[in-house]
Amino acid sequence: MKLTTTAVLAALGLASSAVASIGRGVPQDISHIPSLYQRHRDSGEYMRIVHKRGTPTEHLQRRAAPTDEASAAKISDPVAECTAYNLPEVAAIANKFPKPWENATIVSGDSEAQDVWKTIQGSGIIPTSVKPKGTANGDFSAFTPTYDKTDPDCWWTFNGCVKPKHDKLPADTYSCPEPSTWGLTFDDGPNCTHNAFYDFLLEKKQKATLFYIGSNVLDWPLEAQRGLVDGHHLCVHTWSHQYMTALPDEQVFAELYYTAKVIKDVVGVTPTCWRPPFGDVDDRVRGIATGLGLETVIWTDDTDDWQLPPAGTKSKADVDNNYKTIIGKQSASGGNIVLTHEINDATMQEFMGQYANIQAAFKHIVPLTACKNQTKPYPDMDITYPNFADYTSGKIDAKGLPSGTTIKASDADYKPQLAASYTSNGGAQATGGSAAAVTASGSIDKAKGSSSSSSSSTASKSASVAAFGTCSMVASLVIGGACAVASLFV
Ligand SMILES: [Zn+2]
Repeated sequence: MKLTTTAVLAALGLASSAVASIGRGVPQDISHIPSLYQRHRDSGEYMRIVHKRGTPTEHLQRRAAPTDEASAAKISDPVAECTAYNLPEVAAIANKFPKPWENATIVSGDSEAQDVWKTIQGSGIIPTSVKPKGTANGDFSAFTPTYDKTDPDCWWTFNGCVKPKHDKLPADTYSCPEPSTWGLTFDDGPNCTHNAFYDFLLEKKQKATLFYIGSNVLDWPLEAQRGLVDGHHLCVHTWSHQYMTALPDEQVFAELYYTAKVIKDVVGVTPTCWRPPFGDVDDRVRGIATGLGLETVIWTDDTDDWQLPPAGTKSKADVDNNYKTIIGKQSASGGNIVLTHEINDATMQEFMGQYANIQAAFKHIVPLTACKNQTKPYPDMDITYPNFADYTSGKIDAKGLPSGTTIKASDADYKPQLAASYTSNGGAQATGGSAAAVTASGSIDKAKGSSSSSSSSTASKSASVAAFGTCSMVASLVIGGACAVASLFV
């Protein structure tokens, strides 16, 4: 029998208002619990959607064109866009990476990766008390019954924790400090059908932060290059999109390492940020990410756009309503970071349809570089992004970007230690203006630079996440003590 979240909660007499609250962002109230169950239940479906979308098959790898980003960006027919191709520069380096969509491990004979991994292991950044949890498809039912309800691992999936409980780990970024500001982020790209969507962003003079899946970058390299050429901000979203807290240390490392490396090799920049699939992160995973110079980014609001038909199981009206709710949260005290996807045509169309509504409600819609006043997100390339004041005054273009005809994939000698020292020294942090993203430290991290000032960042914003001591209580109502009940739903 397949139980639904609604059925379980209704049977137990919980208020329907809790069930109705959708949103996998940093939880503000107890309603995140049913949302958590739903995420687990749907994770198998989600994985199929992600994977189905784009891996080239052998017999399709004979197309001659396109040969560079500029020619790929001009293709308007979605069928042609998603016809797989074989780029010689990428074919030459493909054997340096795990097989696309397989759980990443260190590639046999990759002494560079082994050396980096040993260095991180020896650095003491990975808390040894935090162990892997559950399964890679998000079934934590065997783990949570015995997990300490005080959440010693700062496990976001358990109760929305974004402030690490172990030393030397930076707090997650999850919102923007400026009022009426929409932090624009798209996960799961590059998508092979994204030209119309990226054209739309160009036309609207809108930049975003893009969290790319490593397997997609290897499969769709010219589409990944377009993200940078168009002036968007690139971050890591793992190699194969698994629940990261389930994976052993070395696999966590490989999922992050090879995604950052493929972005460096294919696009030319070393990323300094990442977002965990499903938000599933704890201090062990944070430690490994920190060793690679990757800052963890979560969100305040989730559009649930990936559940749109025909791939998903929600109606468009439901997703429209969810967007409406998020748009209705426009706040004078601080900005959000919103989870949206370029996972398929439906999610991109949905955003394009909602864009005018967001613009009407929010003063600013910004990539995380502007949100954080982070002008130099990459340690190895002299690319300068506009800070918040510049971006919101219309100077949206980054300086130093490659052109579509000059950007080339190559074995680019990825150096994660460069990112690690850069990030730990604050290099990837705020470098201009006065606003910076709110982290879980409970205060706004002010920018050091003051060449220009944004309109307001004086209002302090409590970054604390709502306390969730109730997790075990609610869970006990549901399943007699366990906090996550994925096995009921998958
Ligand atoms: Zn994702």
